[in-house]
Amino acid sequence: MGEFELIERFFKRPVRHAALGVGDDCALLNSAPGMQMAVSTDMLVQGRHFFPDVDPYTLGHKALAVNLSDLAACGARPLAFTLALALPEARSDWLEPFSRGLLDLADAHDCELIGGDTTQGPLNICITVFGEVPAGQALLRSGAQPGDDIYVSGSLGDAYLALQAMLGHITLPPTLLAATRQRMEQPTPRVALGLALRAVASAAADVSDGLLGDLGHILKQSSVGATVDTSVAMHLLAAYADPADVNGQFDQEQWMALALRCVLAGGDDYELVFTAPVSRRKDVAAAALQGDVPVTRLGRIDAAPGLRLVNADGAAVENRFASFDHFAERETVAGCSA
Ligand code: ADP
Ligand code: MG
Repeated sequence: MGEFELIERFFKRPVRHAALGVGDDCALLNSAPGMQMAVSTDMLVQGRHFFPDVDPYTLGHKALAVNLSDLAACGARPLAFTLALALPEARSDWLEPFSRGLLDLADAHDCELIGGDTTQGPLNICITVFGEVPAGQALLRSGAQPGDDIYVSGSLGDAYLALQAMLGHITLPPTLLAATRQRMEQPTPRVALGLALRAVASAAADVSDGLLGDLGHILKQSSVGATVDTSVAMHLLAAYADPADVNGQFDQEQWMALALRCVLAGGDDYELVFTAPVSRRKDVAAAALQGDVPVTRLGRIDAAPGLRLVNADGAAVENRFASFDHFAERETVAGCSA
């Protein structure tokens, strides 16, 4: 199968909204008056972001999901994406499920594939997404104000827990491994929540590198600090409720420490961390309903810079949690965040 047959078979679809899709030198997108285009790129590299034997369907899903998550964090509605793909070989038994995973998620968000590039080489997937947002209404990292509540959507840390099991650092019972692996391999971008938060949140980011790291970006760009309640955060690990399942491997204290590390610094979650004024608590709850995902309030923004962790009694908890940095040393290689 040649390059053009491959594109034709697996990636060319009739366009619905774009003025021109796959097949010419450029795709053409119509820009609506009063709207701004939101653009983001994320690359997935084999051995760095995924295991070589990962299921191609889930890889296609994840490659787009991590990009849609960036649009969600900005409150942008997905429109279209491009796909730059380096492949060691053109095998239909790999390309068919890969394109299906990719295009199933694309269809679910009415986001069309309008172009890309295909080349032979080590497996590498680079997607650029285009979304739209009413001018001036995008959610930014820079809007958090002292006194604002801090929230996070869904659950956190399960992807990192799965990674630890897949790297052989811990063992998980099969049902727990399957559930956490699902979170790692098929994250759900919180697009509807992002849209619902447009007029509500003061700042937002998606959690790709770990909660504290991504919240840290909001703090830095908003020139504020924060206090985060670790006793609330711990329960964001969906697997936390099942300590009995890992009995024998960890005592209660070790399990709590692992849960906290997964939640605060795991990464690869693709949930939204956001801030909103205390006066908007009802609106945040309504946005969560509209986004069909629970949100948890886990702290507040302070005028004083720095990030403080506290326990349920408000006593300080030591912050030993570094978030992911591709160029910093860390114990894991594959499966890290985008
Ligand atoms: P050019 O040489 O002008 O860059 P190509 O020959 O690389 O164009 O690609 C032909 C057409 O196929 C272009 O419209 C391009 O956007 C599209 N395309 C190439 N690879 C992909 C891909 N992996 N997914 C979607 N469209 C692709
Ligand atoms: Mg080309």
